[in-house]
Amino acid sequence: MPGTVKDAIKRSRSTVETAIEHGRATVETAIEHGRATVEDALHHGRATVESAIQHGRATVETAIYHGRATMQAAVLHGREDIRIESVPVPRAEPGELIVRVGAALTCGTDLKVFRRGYHARMIVPPALFGHELAGTVVEAGKGVTDFAPGARVVALNSAPCGHCYFCEHSHENLCDDLLFNNGAYAEFIRVPARIVAKNTLQVPEHVPLEHAALTEPLACAVHGFEDSRPYPGATVAVIGGGPLGLMILHVAALAGCEVIAIVKHDGQVEAARQLGAAHVVQTSSLRKAIRDTRALTPKDRGVDIAIEAVGVPEAWQEAVEMVRKGGTVNFFGGCAVGTHVTLDTNRIHYNDITLRATFHHTPAMCRKALDLIASGKFQAGAFITGHAHLYELNRVFEKLMNRSSEIKTAIVP
Ligand SMILES: [Zn+2]
Ligand SMILES: [Zn+2]
Repeated sequence: MPGTVKDAIKRSRSTVETAIEHGRATVETAIEHGRATVEDALHHGRATVESAIQHGRATVETAIYHGRATMQAAVLHGREDIRIESVPVPRAEPGELIVRVGAALTCGTDLKVFRRGYHARMIVPPALFGHELAGTVVEAGKGVTDFAPGARVVALNSAPCGHCYFCEHSHENLCDDLLFNNGAYAEFIRVPARIVAKNTLQVPEHVPLEHAALTEPLACAVHGFEDSRPYPGATVAVIGGGPLGLMILHVAALAGCEVIAIVKHDGQVEAARQLGAAHVVQTSSLRKAIRDTRALTPKDRGVDIAIEAVGVPEAWQEAVEMVRKGGTVNFFGGCAVGTHVTLDTNRIHYNDITLRATFHHTPAMCRKALDLIASGKFQAGAFITGHAHLYELNRVFEKLMNRSSEIKTAIVP
């Protein structure tokens, strides 16, 4: 009977299809399980390895620390007088951390201090020296719960009091009682309790310590940039190709601004381009800088934002002259004590120019900076152009004084 045959064929076909369907489901479930098992194993493996590394590091570094009574440290005695001396290893008081310095970075501020022999707010000699660092905790004082030996941290160079007028109005950078810490150019550094509580950050495993040490200057750069009323597509002129000028221009480029870098030295031209400057004006002439920068804007009207990152009066004046009507100027570079500038008041008033001057950083900016470094978008590696041992610190500063092409040198104790 044809009907029976057809039925039989239909039935067997549906049986086969069901079998295939089941088979496929079974295989897919197996693959799914297999994948989950492998991923789990990888995850556990990674966690095990990382915790082993963390334990190993804690054990080794802590053992070294406890076995030592003295350490090598840079002591600033005055103008161009840094000595590497043997000093007692610090021990943690309640609330404090002792950090084994993994990398300490040279900074324009340190160079200024080296030249002048002091810094009114930050350091009075004789004193331990250096303030941009990241390292490994070797001792946590009584009451510290956030960090244990073995933790990789960046300890900022300052912390606000939290209860003065300025702290209460979100201007922690202007705190009446800003506490500064120095001593990064050493094997170990004491981190005061207030900095432990407010401005010490855990460094993600994938971030090298020398990159994490950029948190402090980058926090100043992000602060200065955000204070300049930026918006995507704005034309931003950055005057100065030093470490902070380059950092600000990189931050501005990452934020979608069109950056014009104004630099003096050959080495800075390449660095500015690599870090995202759309245009580079290389000159040491004030007039040429103003003219060439304006020429890069429609009808020579001037840039939307000009950020001065040199710290000399001529550059402050230059910044005011290259901004458009309604634009913003940020006097980011601090000049020597007692410096005065002459500005064209008519230009500022009738062109409705906003003048800003950003100083230092806040705890929120420090967190933003480390996040930016950890994101991988920020080219941290480009800012560290040399490595040197603590013993070579004098030579490193002498080289920096002679305007070498180094951006930052990582001092490894
Ligand atoms: Zn610095
Ligand atoms: Zn305060």
